[in-house]
Amino acid sequence: MTLLRPNIAAMDAYIPGYQPHDINSWIKLNTNENSYPPSPNVVAAILAELGSDGKRLHTYPSASSQQLREAAGELYGFDSSWIIMANGSDEVLNNLIRASVSEGEEIGYVHPSYSYYATLAAIQGAQVRTYGLTGDFRIADFPDRYQGKIFFLTTPNAPLGPAFPITYIEELAQRCSGMLVLDETYADFADGNALELVRKHKNVVITRSLSKSYALAGMRLGLAIAHPEIIAALDKIRDHYNLDRLAQAACLAALKDQAYLREICRSICKTRDWFYAQLQRIGYAAIPSQGNYLFVTPPDRNGKRVYEALYERKILVRHFSDPQLAHGLRISIGTKEEMTATVSALAEIG
Ligand SMILES: *Cc1c(COP(=O)(O)O)cnc(C)c1O
Repeated sequence: MTLLRPNIAAMDAYIPGYQPHDINSWIKLNTNENSYPPSPNVVAAILAELGSDGKRLHTYPSASSQQLREAAGELYGFDSSWIIMANGSDEVLNNLIRASVSEGEEIGYVHPSYSYYATLAAIQGAQVRTYGLTGDFRIADFPDRYQGKIFFLTTPNAPLGPAFPITYIEELAQRCSGMLVLDETYADFADGNALELVRKHKNVVITRSLSKSYALAGMRLGLAIAHPEIIAALDKIRDHYNLDRLAQAACLAALKDQAYLREICRSICKTRDWFYAQLQRIGYAAIPSQGNYLFVTPPDRNGKRVYEALYERKILVRHFSDPQLAHGLRISIGTKEEMTATVSALAEIG
């Protein structure tokens, strides 16, 4: 008897960005983590939740994370019935597919963007259709009516960097028969977001992450904003205690310290724009980005060579073997010091 579903036995696992064990000896710019620490209020909230004897840890956390839904709702201007909290935005991406897509049905997304959508589809036994991008950063050959159950749009796009204009996203929402899931992981670094479209179009869902902008990748925190009917469905599917006590304490403190969020995002964007100018100076090309990363192309268009040369210098960036991306590198924006060292290394490598 076969023990596994055939699609699970046949599929490849998603390969996350490399996390070196000797992490402190690297300049780590490969997974778009934040080089700044989280808000000091986050650390204080975790310690308070832990207490001196860890006494609270023997009881389950809030199953609904209701306080966090209210804090996020207040922040984004929605009733809490429009919000669900997640153990990283990856969890809610997974549950959106489980809620909407039956075996054999289709999901779509832009290539290049976040390849984890394809892994999640493979687990569900769903079909995948990808669409390329045009020179003016629109989706190539997007049908008048997209009939798949979910279309995932990463905006700002990762790994390339640009965001799609809101008027264009609204047009896509009208052309999608199923859900349009806007993966706004990087929206806190961007000039705008599509929150208003969730109110106007029932099929629009937004996912957010606290991993990058809030510097909390290690806590696993994300959320989705959608029509209450979709939120109610996602609530049936999720692990009922999906956020542990420490994560809930951290999340509440982080959402409530918007001044800190704005300050570190502003610093990162400033460093990103400085790094962009430096790259041009040394003959590297880069795509203007709304995220905390730049997609960078060396003069000889040999991304692998530069990846290896940086690796030797203990600077870790992301190289994708995909033919559409192999000529370049995605470099996360760290502190000014880290990016200064990276510019010097790139100038030396040539
Ligand atoms: C990092 C990332 C995620 C995952 O975020 P988590 O909240 O850490 O699960 C999702 N989508 C994109 C585009 C990302 O870059």
